[in-house]
Amino acid sequence: MSLKVWINGEFFDKENAKISVFDHGLLYGDGVFEGLRSYGGKLFRLDEHMQRFYESARAILLEVPTEFEELKDAVYATLSENGIVDGYVRLLITRGTGTLGLDPHTCSNSQVVIIADNIKLYPQEFYDNGLEIVTASTIRNHPNALNSRVKSLNYLNNIMGKVEGTQAGCVEALMLNHKGDVAECTADNIFIVKDHIIATPSIDAGILAGITRATVIELAKGNGMQVNECTLSRHDIYVADECFLTGTAAEIAPIVKVDDRVIGSGKPGSVTQKLHEEFHALVRS
Ligand code: PMP
Repeated sequence: MSLKVWINGEFFDKENAKISVFDHGLLYGDGVFEGLRSYGGKLFRLDEHMQRFYESARAILLEVPTEFEELKDAVYATLSENGIVDGYVRLLITRGTGTLGLDPHTCSNSQVVIIADNIKLYPQEFYDNGLEIVTASTIRNHPNALNSRVKSLNYLNNIMGKVEGTQAGCVEALMLNHKGDVAECTADNIFIVKDHIIATPSIDAGILAGITRATVIELAKGNGMQVNECTLSRHDIYVADECFLTGTAAEIAPIVKVDDRVIGSGKPGSVTQKLHEEFHALVRS
């Protein structure tokens, strides 16, 4: 059965799910997106993802033509149309078709698209043994150029970071901000554990306000752990007891080596493992 893609209220077969080459989403990456996970047929933190979606759009002066509740229903309808129980959902909106100039005012017919598909997970060994990452020389976008809280369709900044990671044989890469402080990974947020305290860069480090990040902070605080959202340097990471990344697809993945420095014992740490177990329990509850 062909995958069915939701575009502006209608389902299209994958082969016929098309966007104009004059859409500024394609011409300029003008648009925003979300990535969500479905566990047992239930979308995890759907409201939070939807809110981030509408806020990303609002920040770039793009009005989402579909109402919040209607769009939530459409996301569920796309899952069920494709018979997906445990999977991944990509929600996006483009600026619409316009002229070859930049001006978004020339655009009309913004396209709201929902794709539901199976998810390609990290192999289990990444969770059992931990990941190695390197710092990319590409810094995260300056917040006054494009605020990283906007999950924009133009992900070239992150892609350039990712390429550096891949060239070094890593699946993720650490990105610093314009001040040289730790920001996040190319598609995940980053945490450390030091002396039983959890720390992660604050949102004003110029990062995406990750929904998994927020969930992990909640879980850790619920366990009575102290969580600091603060400025982190690479040095803080190098000397941490534990390090892990968080994201919708990766969930919570241990990091055991950064720029060739072994982190802690070089094995996934106990706090990381406990948080991941609790995260699993939560998403399936
Ligand atoms: N940072 C970036 C740059 C991302 O693209 C993502 C999402 N893949 C994250 C962090 C993690 O955010 P979330 O937990 O909401 O998936």
